[in-house]
Amino acid sequence: MEDQEDKIAFIGQDENGKEAVFVTGKMEDSDTLSSRLDEADVQYGKEIPKEESPLLTFILSWVFPILMFLILGQLLTRYMQKKMGGPNAMTFGKSNAKIYVEAQTGKTFDDVAGQDEAKEALSEIVDFLHNPSKYAEIGASLPKGALLVGPPGTGKTLLAQAVAGEAKVPFFSISGSEFVEMFVGMGAAKVRDLFKQAQEKAPCIVFIDEIDTIGKKREGGMGGNDEREQTLNQLLTEMDGFDGKKGVVILAATNRPDSLDKALLRPGRFDRRIPVELPDLAGREAILKVHAKKIKVAPDIDYNAIARATAGASGAELANIINEAALRAVRCGHFSVTQADLEESVEVVIAGYQRKSAVISAKEKEIVAYHEIGHALVAAMQSDSAPVHKITIVPRTSGALGYTMQVEEGERVLMSREEAYNKIATLTGGRAAEELIFGSFTSGASNDIEQATKLARSMVTRLGMSKTFDMMALETVSNQYLGGDASLTCSPETAAKIDEEVLELIRSAHEKAIAILKENMEKLHELAHYLLERETITGEEFMEILKK
Ligand code: ADP
Ligand code: MG
Ligand code: ZN
Repeated sequence: MEDQEDKIAFIGQDENGKEAVFVTGKMEDSDTLSSRLDEADVQYGKEIPKEESPLLTFILSWVFPILMFLILGQLLTRYMQKKMGGPNAMTFGKSNAKIYVEAQTGKTFDDVAGQDEAKEALSEIVDFLHNPSKYAEIGASLPKGALLVGPPGTGKTLLAQAVAGEAKVPFFSISGSEFVEMFVGMGAAKVRDLFKQAQEKAPCIVFIDEIDTIGKKREGGMGGNDEREQTLNQLLTEMDGFDGKKGVVILAATNRPDSLDKALLRPGRFDRRIPVELPDLAGREAILKVHAKKIKVAPDIDYNAIARATAGASGAELANIINEAALRAVRCGHFSVTQADLEESVEVVIAGYQRKSAVISAKEKEIVAYHEIGHALVAAMQSDSAPVHKITIVPRTSGALGYTMQVEEGERVLMSREEAYNKIATLTGGRAAEELIFGSFTSGASNDIEQATKLARSMVTRLGMSKTFDMMALETVSNQYLGGDASLTCSPETAAKIDEEVLELIRSAHEKAIAILKENMEKLHELAHYLLERETITGEEFMEILKK
């Protein structure tokens, strides 16, 4: 402990006659001092230096930390309980699977556009739950479970909610991830309880969203997730255990069907698969219209044009495009959403917002203009490539300095070898223009290179479009709905040959693009200067100049 100065306090009177305490600094504590003070009739005392009592020390260093631990522990348990849906979760009994009935989701099949096959399959289930006797008379029994599979954002959860709205029977809904975030042993207990409740309420529907979180393949040996496996085993047991005729139908949704444990897909479990794929042209148009109903739109909207420009977009992305357009309409002070709002919002979703403030030098702008016209010219000079819809050199927040948008006239499902090859040539067109005009290249083609390589590779390894490998499959794709990770299934020698073949494809397409641009040098200059001036040109303007 630090040296504590002895202080002596005096009680006297200050200059105003009020009582005051005076404290001196360190002072000799002599006899003469005290007698002199006594004579002067001054009250005085000495501050006694505080000593830590052993009890206090004990409390501070032992009792207090332990108390803190207890309190923290309590808080943590409360928090966990709350997360799991109330203190009941601790009793290992009651499940908190939410029960949805019609009025609560408020969704019907009308809210789901496109996906007619999925809706048909699901309405059969709804019908079965409404009048099981009709099926019983013929002796038909419905599958116990149906699995909705498809890429993210295609409306699987929405479809299940619509089923709840249509079915008018109790609807238990739980997400796979809810099972996983619980204590050990809880997942299995929850499954047991869920099925117990469901059987009491039959006829009813049980919906397990994102079933892949619990239904992943069980791994042999070490490193398995015991908790998840227990939950999965319990689910399998329950599915086998209940009587299908009672009228409990289990729906589940996933976007990684290939990672599901095979046991789940066995007959008697999820033996019916309902594909929920990305919408086609008509589907996209229908989805746009469903979502446009919720906002104020101008009377002359061409939904078909928007649908054509959004090939490959999911329902969720289309819903997002409509919302972005509505936001833009508000920003621009329009009274309702216009075609231009929608078109700009398609580009925002594809390429990010315009970056008007981006500083780009005149030289760079010129390079970007030639680059984009290079793509557009190569595309236009080849048959079997989609018409140019728009070319722009306004930078976007995604980092794109410009882009050329091509829009198919109708729906394309198949791609011929020529089309694939021409597409690679179009992708190399940007770099080809840079080489021809400026004699050097920039980093601007990085995305083109990536796409061209991907396409060339799949031509060789998966589409059977190379001479060397004919129709031999060289790659297997896992996770087809989530980007599709491809892995080679061949010897290292073959892998080297594949690389050669891919390089050869790209090189020859690149040469073709250079040849096309050399032939149309005048148009290249004219169009690039026009684009530089306007920054954005439409497909019609482009074709007009080209045909002149
Ligand atoms: P998933 O579960 O397949 O990932 P969701 O059902 O969560 O997809 O869909 C997300 C959102 O996208 C929905 O709430 C809806 O607004 C929109 N959406 C997706 N598909 C459709 C569709 N077919 N019709 C209308 N809206 C759709
Ligand atoms: Mg979902
Ligand atoms: Zn490019």
